[in-house]
Amino acid sequence: MNTFLNHSLIDFIQASPTPFHAVANMVTRLEAAGYQRLFERANWSVQEGGLYYVIRNDSSLIAFKLSACKLADTGLRMVGTHTDSPCLQLKPLPEINKSNCRQLGIAVYGGALLSPWFDRDLSIAGRVTFIHRGKLQSKIINFQRSIALIPNLAIHLNREANKGWVINQQTELPAIIGLGLSDEQFDFKALLAEQLSIEHDIQEVELLDFELSLFDTQKGEIIGINEDFISSARLDNLFSCFAGLEALLNSDNTKNCLLVCNDHEEVGSCSTCGADGPFLEQVLKRLMPDPVIYNRCVQNSLLISTDNAHALHPNYPNKHDELHAPTINAGPVIKMQPIV
Ligand SMILES: [Zn+2]
Repeated sequence: MNTFLNHSLIDFIQASPTPFHAVANMVTRLEAAGYQRLFERANWSVQEGGLYYVIRNDSSLIAFKLSACKLADTGLRMVGTHTDSPCLQLKPLPEINKSNCRQLGIAVYGGALLSPWFDRDLSIAGRVTFIHRGKLQSKIINFQRSIALIPNLAIHLNREANKGWVINQQTELPAIIGLGLSDEQFDFKALLAEQLSIEHDIQEVELLDFELSLFDTQKGEIIGINEDFISSARLDNLFSCFAGLEALLNSDNTKNCLLVCNDHEEVGSCSTCGADGPFLEQVLKRLMPDPVIYNRCVQNSLLISTDNAHALHPNYPNKHDELHAPTINAGPVIKMQPIV
């Protein structure tokens, strides 16, 4: 087991509570390795042997390394991943004052399993957009410390709790972040402006909007009597972002290589920065405006779409096809799906 790599993965996930943070952390590593940013609104002049990256919406990233090989002749070796994970996002108007508690309204992002979010120490992170000195800006923030909780109802008040019940997202998910009398004003944007000042030393902002989500502050760990497992939030799919980035950074210079990390996989991928959107195609066409060269490159390329697979769960063996159940720690899983 490569302990250093595993701990680096856990550190990356801990520092990446949202897709915005994941992209920012990958950019830090890319720039340290000499990768240059290309801006989609500017002209590009890419060179043989060059190292480049493009970001869109601050939450999707394409990084590539060009070798001396012609793209049309040898194509690109590509890895595709996604930066987002199912989570609990804050509603646009999140403030709730109820029973002398200050709460934040929650909207479920993606196909989240809801019960693990109860009784966890939660924090808030994401992107805030504001006007500062007449200029529109966005910054990422991360409260880091545990400031929110979604407490379960005590067993004494719900004797049916262990018999299963449907979680009402509207009424049971609002997170508690403090106490406050119901007639006291609760200004969440003021709290965000304060955090912006703490993290970025920016004051006197007109806070316009935010895209924030809750995350579990417990750091991932290597667990098991023989340390067989990595236990962490957001392994799906920050694991593949991390592995894809390592692969790109450690690749030699003999081939053209590309890493694409898309946001919005958990909600269908159909956005301008999602995998079913135009991001990758538009970047490739900027590199190869000639349609024949582009088509030849695509035909000579390989893209591996990487994600986590669901291993056989010993408590639920009948949930898998017994001849095709993925065995944990026994190597990569190849998913077969008919092309329609
Ligand atoms: Zn996934």
